[in-house]
Amino acid sequence: MALIVKKFGGSSVRDVERIYNVARIITESYREGNDVVVVLSAQGDTTDELIEKALEVNPNPSRREMDMLLSTGEQISIALCAMAIEKLGFPVISLTGWQVNLRTDSNYGNARIKKLEGDRIRAELHKRNIVIVAGFQGINKYGDITTLGRGGSDTTAVALAAELGADLCQIYTDVDGVYTADPRIVPNAIKLDEITFDEMLELASLGAQVLQNRSVELAKRFGVHLEVLSSLESKPGTIVKEVTTRMEKTLISGVAKDDNVASVSLIGLQDVPGVAYKIFSVLAKNRVNVDIILQSIGRENTKDITFTVAKENLDLVTKILKDNQGVLAFKDMTTNDKLSKVSIVGAGMINNPGIAAQMFEALYSVGVNIQMISTSEIKVSVLIDKSESDIALKAVHDKFFATRSDH
Ligand code: ADP
Ligand code: ASP
Ligand code: MG
Repeated sequence: MALIVKKFGGSSVRDVERIYNVARIITESYREGNDVVVVLSAQGDTTDELIEKALEVNPNPSRREMDMLLSTGEQISIALCAMAIEKLGFPVISLTGWQVNLRTDSNYGNARIKKLEGDRIRAELHKRNIVIVAGFQGINKYGDITTLGRGGSDTTAVALAAELGADLCQIYTDVDGVYTADPRIVPNAIKLDEITFDEMLELASLGAQVLQNRSVELAKRFGVHLEVLSSLESKPGTIVKEVTTRMEKTLISGVAKDDNVASVSLIGLQDVPGVAYKIFSVLAKNRVNVDIILQSIGRENTKDITFTVAKENLDLVTKILKDNQGVLAFKDMTTNDKLSKVSIVGAGMINNPGIAAQMFEALYSVGVNIQMISTSEIKVSVLIDKSESDIALKAVHDKFFATRSDH
């Protein structure tokens, strides 16, 4: 008998038929004698629809009220799924984030888990109940509802698996595993049997939304056995683990793209020490994450700095910078929210110079212009025009995977 955490994403519970499909996967595992804890997302596109609804009422709602609204989606899923399991004749209980005491900080909309007590869940499992927990939501020190950021149900599942010491954490979704690229954009992407935590973390952070990056970080830290698999087909998925047998053979483990990118350029800054410090400390104070930064070579005592942020932060960033224009002393500011970041990821890159050049060649071959470049030991990212992102992703993927057969 094992303790298994199973998480099902929005498309897996989108309607009555899919809810029963999920209920059968759960009850089958329970019937085999396992303790089963389930984490669910909101049905289908519910979260997006709730966001739209909120913006119809108030284009600028407070983040607290937004979380109050968004958390309702998951609550609907868990109740409906529990009802389906009741109908199938199994003992079940659904619980919200606050009922399982999932404590977070107060960063509404992107809260971090601080503490999670599994006592209630353990008690329910002891009674031989199937336990269904609402993903994505928690509670802060004021007793207010918070959410964990888009895709946050993955993180709820991994956090529960870590706290409960689960034997396995299975993330069921609408694809049958992790691929070398998003299989919906790159049809000839290759399914990976295994991927390391580090590579998965990079891919997830660079836009592969199949797992929320924070869930991968947690799984690595707590040694959670993680599998990504299909809720619609019964077959092995992708195992995410510390070391894979594949690692040494492969230069690149995957390519990813992120369309949620905007750039900000500050023109005519003074070419003196402390300018970058002032800009990025004022943004950090406002909790804005900055990604790629590019500084032009100084001329006539002025320089330009361009950097990227998540698109949803663009309005906030321009406001902060305008409010501080006097101190930061830039002449002009321009923005662009029609950008994408395309990245290649792979531990094998470290000892193989020339990988970046191959990526750039692939982009050149389809006429895609690179606006910014950023590299680390295990990734190369380029910023390009959003309208060219699918073609760029395919070209880069084909460069590294078209002729490969060792996956
Ligand atoms: P869920 O609702 O189950 O959480 P998501 O939409 O969050 O599902 O994540 C699954 C989607 O991730 C897939 O439908 C796929 O289009 C996308 N995806 C992006 N990159 C990858 C990748 N490298 N491998 C597999 N799927 C990927
Ligand atoms: N429902 C939330 C979202 O759409 C959380 C999740 O699906 O993981 O982002
Ligand atoms: Mg998801």
